[in-house]
Amino acid sequence: MLCVDNFFTGSRRNITHLLDNKDFELLRHDVTHPLHVEVDEIYNLACPASPIHYQFDPVQTTKTSVMGVINMLGLAKRVKAKILQASTSEVYGDPIVHPQPEEYWGNVNPIGFRSCYDEGKRCAETLIFDYVRQHKIPAKVVRIFNTYGPRMHLKDGRVVSNFVVQALTGCDITIYGDGAQTRSFCYVDDLIEAMMRMMATTPETTGPINIGNPVEFTIRELGELVIELTGSRSRLVFEPLPCDDPKQRQPDIRKAREKLGWEPQIQLRAGLMKTIAYFDELLKKEQPQPA
Ligand code: UDP
Ligand code: UDP
Repeated sequence: MLCVDNFFTGSRRNITHLLDNKDFELLRHDVTHPLHVEVDEIYNLACPASPIHYQFDPVQTTKTSVMGVINMLGLAKRVKAKILQASTSEVYGDPIVHPQPEEYWGNVNPIGFRSCYDEGKRCAETLIFDYVRQHKIPAKVVRIFNTYGPRMHLKDGRVVSNFVVQALTGCDITIYGDGAQTRSFCYVDDLIEAMMRMMATTPETTGPINIGNPVEFTIRELGELVIELTGSRSRLVFEPLPCDDPKQRQPDIRKAREKLGWEPQIQLRAGLMKTIAYFDELLKKEQPQPA
């Protein structure tokens, strides 16, 4: 197992428990540069996914998705490896069709603040399917909907970790807009199970296949649930809605059910409890209490 990361948003702490494993190898590398290694399977997850991180250097974000997938496809072609591309619900943009089936082409602004991520991932999908048609690469695409869980960065900036950390530290819970916008949150273990099942499918199964938990919540409901589960005294406060923020999002997972025999096992309450426990531990380590 070779883990490749440039650590722009990833943390070494998340893999320290694997470093003693003789089957695990770590390589600090940026996928926008060619990579010459010998592998059987490639999971291309490279690209920051939180708006604050992918908008920090938008040009580099597009390069990471586009040049990254070109390099991973070139590698897959040379060593005859299978490649699984982590695409995103963001390919649907601010969707007009609800819930979103894989056939929907999306409603994406090509020149906005989110475009570096959305269009980068869309172009990566184009490249995958062109390599499949042109070079007969065994490739697979999953479109990942909002995922959360332990080992997220304390300052990830996405809604679940923000709300949990705010609740645990007694800070205000920052709802952007009126909180009526919706998301459907998938626990990380469910996502990983789905990606491994996808990798194990026969070559005809290229996808794209939506992976997410179809239970939809408003952002306000999420804030209230986090307060309830943490027992926090934090208040909800309302801040401006970022530009082009999608109003609704829910995966249609009929394909995942049919092709992978998969559906999420961990619902939001249970997943949040595990995530809260993780951040609680982390915060205790970061801010040691006086003896
Ligand atoms: N590539 C890579 N590792 C490899 C083989 C290729 O990173 O093991 C890169 C290579 O540098 C190129 C890209 O993948 O930029 C696409 O390779 P491909 O062979 O498809 O195209 P070409 O080299 O003909 O442009
Ligand atoms: N959001 C929020 N408060 C936060 C962070 C995010 O209300 O502290 C909102 C954000 O505006 C969006 C939703 O929560 O409507 C999900 O945002 P996130 O950045 O987690 O993911 P994405 O927008 O990429 O789905």
